[in-house]
Amino acid sequence: MIWNETFECMGRDELHLIQSSRLRETVERVYANSPFYRRKMQELSITPEDIQTVEDLVKLPFTVKTDLRDNYPFGLFSAPMSEIVRLHASSGTTGKPIVAGYTRKDLNTWSEILARTFTAGGCGKSDIFHIAFGYGLFTGGLGAHSGAERIGASVIPISTGNTEKQIQLMTDFGSTVLCCTPSYALYLAETIEKMGVKDKLRLRTGFFGAEPWTEAMRTEIQNKLGIKAYDIYGLTEVMGPGVSYNCSEQNGMHINEDMFIPEIIDPKTLKPVAQGEIGELVFTTIYKEGMPVLRYRTKDLTRLVYEPCPCGRSFVRMEKIKGRSDDMLIIRGVNVFPTQVESVLLEFPEVAPHYHIFVDRVNNTDTFEIHVEMRPECFSDNLSRVLDLSKRITHRLQSVLGIGPVLKLVEPNSIQRTTGKSVHVTDLRKVY
Ligand code: ADP
Ligand code: ZN
Repeated sequence: MIWNETFECMGRDELHLIQSSRLRETVERVYANSPFYRRKMQELSITPEDIQTVEDLVKLPFTVKTDLRDNYPFGLFSAPMSEIVRLHASSGTTGKPIVAGYTRKDLNTWSEILARTFTAGGCGKSDIFHIAFGYGLFTGGLGAHSGAERIGASVIPISTGNTEKQIQLMTDFGSTVLCCTPSYALYLAETIEKMGVKDKLRLRTGFFGAEPWTEAMRTEIQNKLGIKAYDIYGLTEVMGPGVSYNCSEQNGMHINEDMFIPEIIDPKTLKPVAQGEIGELVFTTIYKEGMPVLRYRTKDLTRLVYEPCPCGRSFVRMEKIKGRSDDMLIIRGVNVFPTQVESVLLEFPEVAPHYHIFVDRVNNTDTFEIHVEMRPECFSDNLSRVLDLSKRITHRLQSVLGIGPVLKLVEPNSIQRTTGKSVHVTDLRKVY
């Protein structure tokens, strides 16, 4: 069964008409209600009348993460607060999160695209959904939750953590569907093996996303849990999970094109690449009220596949994310920029701004270690002083990044210098 055949399987010409009309409405909305977008459009000397069809999209200004940060918290909203019924946020640079506001219609749209996602994975009202994405400001938990309710499934809002208890409930309640990050799915799978309860599970399907994962990880999750594993993609700025989703083919993710228009650009020239080439994914939301975004640069690298999909959906597919055009790391689901680490280190006169970040994955959990050089004049063998400093820096990093690293204060001049662009990160995880 297809959740909303009318949209998912409509012809490309008809889709183009809907996209153009929704794009016009969106541009009028942001021009009328968002001083930020009005100013940006005025700077380019364009008015809403200049945007008539999807082809006019290229005339519009880009939006980037720093636009949201600079206009924190609600500066990009295009609806009055009295119409906003939910706020979400994702980790952002320099401690300020990226905030998204949703009207009632937006929440409805969001649950609809997740309902499509779950239906595309063969799920329905007799399923029992174990939602182990984090609940709270993070979009994963409540996002997936609303879609599962929308298809009439039984929903267990278990959130993350407390892994053994989760598995106990999963067996007791007979959960058939698991939603979480792919790395947590692998961690759950290992714990299930250790607890020896695999044959008590009724799981048959899983939806995983919020971080990059490889086909090899998919195979491992499928084999270890005995399920079919589907990829879901999304980002807070655009909506949250459900922007695109795997169908039963598990070959690329269909983009909900009646809600989001994708473009692929060259991150250097900012010009669209030739059809089918890899570049940076850009989204314009065309059915949002609370916080529509024009040409939002995701910094995620992928390509679009226009060949028809055997499943019958006509929405274009995006391939798995192949990397990022910036240096953002996703560590245990939290977005971390090396510049955030640097800005914290600069607050401490005892350490030099020479640092190196090591990320790895051990037992399916990301490890996060930062080595920082001490300044020669502060380098001492007074252990309690060093420990105290290390504690203070770790505490500050934890509060700015939203995730605590293992901090190692190292001798002056022990971190390798480079002659060219400095390399601050060694990421040993093979996530792309
Ligand atoms: P979330 O709240 O889902 O973590 P964020 O806005 O914090 O959303 O992060 C979004 C980013 O997470 C995306 O730009 C992308 O880099 C990554 N991401 C989300 N889903 C996937 C996925 N299925 N595959 C690869 N990367 C993903
Ligand atoms: Zn398909």
